[in-house]
Amino acid sequence: MSKGCWWTIPLLAALLSGCAGNTGIEDRGAYKVDVRHQAPAAYSRVKVLVIHYTAGDFDTSLATLTGHDVSAHYLIPAVPPQSGAKPVIWQLVPEEKLAWHAGISFWRGATRINDTSVGVELENDGWRLAAGKKQFAPFQPAQIAALEKLARSIIERYQIKPWNVVAHADIAPQRKDDPGPLFPWRQLAQQGIGAWPEAGRVNFYLFGRPGWQPVDRLSLLDLLSRYGYEVAPEMTPQQQQRVIAAFQMHFRPARYDGVADAETEAIARALLEKYGQG
Ligand SMILES: [Zn+2]
Repeated sequence: MSKGCWWTIPLLAALLSGCAGNTGIEDRGAYKVDVRHQAPAAYSRVKVLVIHYTAGDFDTSLATLTGHDVSAHYLIPAVPPQSGAKPVIWQLVPEEKLAWHAGISFWRGATRINDTSVGVELENDGWRLAAGKKQFAPFQPAQIAALEKLARSIIERYQIKPWNVVAHADIAPQRKDDPGPLFPWRQLAQQGIGAWPEAGRVNFYLFGRPGWQPVDRLSLLDLLSRYGYEVAPEMTPQQQQRVIAAFQMHFRPARYDGVADAETEAIARALLEKYGQG
């Protein structure tokens, strides 16, 4: 803190009582700062936790994420090694630094989600086409268990709200699918990580309709927009479908065809009721 008091002027010396750290004056080498007046209106840079999959094996993912184009704060192997009965997670970027994991992105009115997030990459093969459909690779329980521990710590330290624990696909639905429909959002929400609607309220908002019953697509998109997704009037039907599919992959993974149906609408209403709008 204090490299001697060579600069002391008697008056200052009295004020700062010896220029030691406990006075609230910190020596930063070429200058000093007075940290005695800490403003309460100070907020964390980190507001969002973004979950990804790497769509590749560990060595390839680690090489990509430590290259010059993209990065993430953490990388969790498909089956994390254990050290002293604890899972080992790779940290590639300090949390206080910005990592390049989100790309062009939007959530709850904010863009540039890299600026306000911590990004966690899960080693996972992603999807491959089989019979014209995307087949996603499952996540290992040990990997999810490690993620739970890491996510809980990040959420607690930055006081991240449930609705701000998001998929990459939630914040960039036109470009991204990850972490995909096999990612266990519901299980994590039961552990206090992320948002999930109350089943009873979803049932209420079905108003007796079958879940598959078609609903007005623009009305559904309005609800999704209010929850946080980027929706724009000039979107093509294909783009609208991708927004709905991203929401479904997160909250109704049994069917994520991007079709506007009553169950998807009921889930959106239940989420808005529980968490408010963005
Ligand atoms: Zn991603």
